[in-house]
Amino acid sequence: MTSTPFSHMQAALDMALDSPHPTNKIAATLFGTNKEREDFSISHHNHWPAPIQEKIGTEIKIGNSSGTIHAETACILNSPYSVEGASLCITDPFCPNCAKNIAEAGIKNIYLDEEGFDKDFFIRRGENFDRMSMQICERAGINVYALDMEENKTRTILEVPKNYKPIEDSPVSAEPIESINEAILYDIIEAATQNNKRRKFAVAMAKNKNGNDFALIARSHAVVGYSMHKPEEALDLLTPRGKYSFIQEPVNRLMMYMSRKGFTLYPDYLYCSQVPTAREQVNLVGAGIKRITVGDTQKCRDPRGLDAMAQLKSAKILNYS
Ligand SMILES: [Zn+2]
Repeated sequence: MTSTPFSHMQAALDMALDSPHPTNKIAATLFGTNKEREDFSISHHNHWPAPIQEKIGTEIKIGNSSGTIHAETACILNSPYSVEGASLCITDPFCPNCAKNIAEAGIKNIYLDEEGFDKDFFIRRGENFDRMSMQICERAGINVYALDMEENKTRTILEVPKNYKPIEDSPVSAEPIESINEAILYDIIEAATQNNKRRKFAVAMAKNKNGNDFALIARSHAVVGYSMHKPEEALDLLTPRGKYSFIQEPVNRLMMYMSRKGFTLYPDYLYCSQVPTAREQVNLVGAGIKRITVGDTQKCRDPRGLDAMAQLKSAKILNYS
């Protein structure tokens, strides 16, 4: 069978039935072509990462964040191939946090099930989709379509001009390094601390598909497509809209960048200058990461980030050094 967005959507719709979430059963299929020019696709539903489900449970929040990983973010975090230029089918309109992840991961097309727009969940949360998620896609240059599965019809919600290139005024930096060891990591952290002054940043050591080692550095910044060079605009971007913001946190940025480019993290070489937000910590668990080194363990941009750290630490899910 030839694969089309419709067949990938069907895979997501089938997968959604198995979601452990009692009310919002959502799934996504990520599909594209790998370096060997072979087609690939992976599907995930929203879920609690096993360590959270087993050791903390599904009733308790992690800090102020739900303990679940959203379907579309799960696909990106767990893709065996670089996701740059890939496409996503999602059973439901996506939240602003996933929009940011999709943008940073370099995904170019999103297909939504037309029926997702009729669900209760969307009717309650639609404003976030229209005012943030879609705006993020427009800036990042992501096409968005709705699929009518019964009629086999595609509706265009957003199509970006072919040659559109989003602004990126603080890209993740990737520097080749000779070897992986703590001394090199500390040198890089030292230099990044000087360069970033008070800004939150994260460092990872990772290997690309060809086996070459890199040091990756990201600072917190507005999601790709938004510039922070104009002070009045930067202030607007820094102001949260309810529970969401246009800022992408550095640990999240590194994780999305690694998926984007097909990098693999060296598990003991992830650093954040302060405590990651609760959402970042849940995403780390969802990506199978077990350890992070934190610069200032008293400081966090998220008022409940320290609580999340205490929870994940005492449940022995994440190790903080
Ligand atoms: Zn989401």
